[in-house]
Amino acid sequence: MSRRAELAANLESTRERIATACESAGRSIDDVHLIVVTKTYPASDVALLAELGVRDIGENRHPEAGRKAEEVADPSLRWHFVGALQTNKANQVARYADVVHSVDRVELAEKLGRGAELAGRTLTALVQVRLADTEGRAGAPAEQVATLADVIASQPHLELGGVMGVAPLGEDPRPSFDALRGLSEVVRTVEARATMISAGMSEDLEAAVAAGATHLRIGRAILGERPASSPASRCAR
Ligand SMILES: *Cc1c(COP(=O)(O)O)cnc(C)c1O
Repeated sequence: MSRRAELAANLESTRERIATACESAGRSIDDVHLIVVTKTYPASDVALLAELGVRDIGENRHPEAGRKAEEVADPSLRWHFVGALQTNKANQVARYADVVHSVDRVELAEKLGRGAELAGRTLTALVQVRLADTEGRAGAPAEQVATLADVIASQPHLELGGVMGVAPLGEDPRPSFDALRGLSEVVRTVEARATMISAGMSEDLEAAVAAGATHLRIGRAILGERPASSPASRCAR
């Protein structure tokens, strides 16, 4: 099978899973968007996905993400930065990312806002929430979500989009996704249009749709398993 045919088949089965999940949850398919996470895979796969109608591409590392965006150079694609982001890389990421899902601290929000200004762009920024009660996990603790949303909303070159979360590995994701939905309400008190709930990956997309996710971030179910040795293959939880 060609790579194109493989990606087409995986896309179709993933879209079917999403449709079934929407039906079970009594939700409209139009309210649930697919972001295909292409980390560790080449720009040629992104180009094939674009041919197959995908418009939203997710990446979790700089500079890998920037190189691919430059190589594919397709203005119809939206680039979603979903990984941990160091403050000193914010300026560079602001040049190509359209949506940054991983804003989890005030300093990063400010640097990203400044980076977007320097790049002459406006980015959508999501508050990444820590979905498990463990120190060192990615995301802002629940009690900081309102403050962070305020800071993002006050940046002229950032648009507050909503919330993002990664459910803890090997646990029932439902309590985490329910908590995320609750924090989405907190963010919407800051900005009513900030309705994005970015949640759900290859393994837990059904639970995410049931809990109200609007943006699913799917990698392996479409691209295939990533080599375990690659550091980019991991997703900070
Ligand atoms: C890799 C990654 C995904 C996609 O995960 P899959 O298990 O490949 O579907 C989603 N979100 C983030 C933050 C990631 O790093």
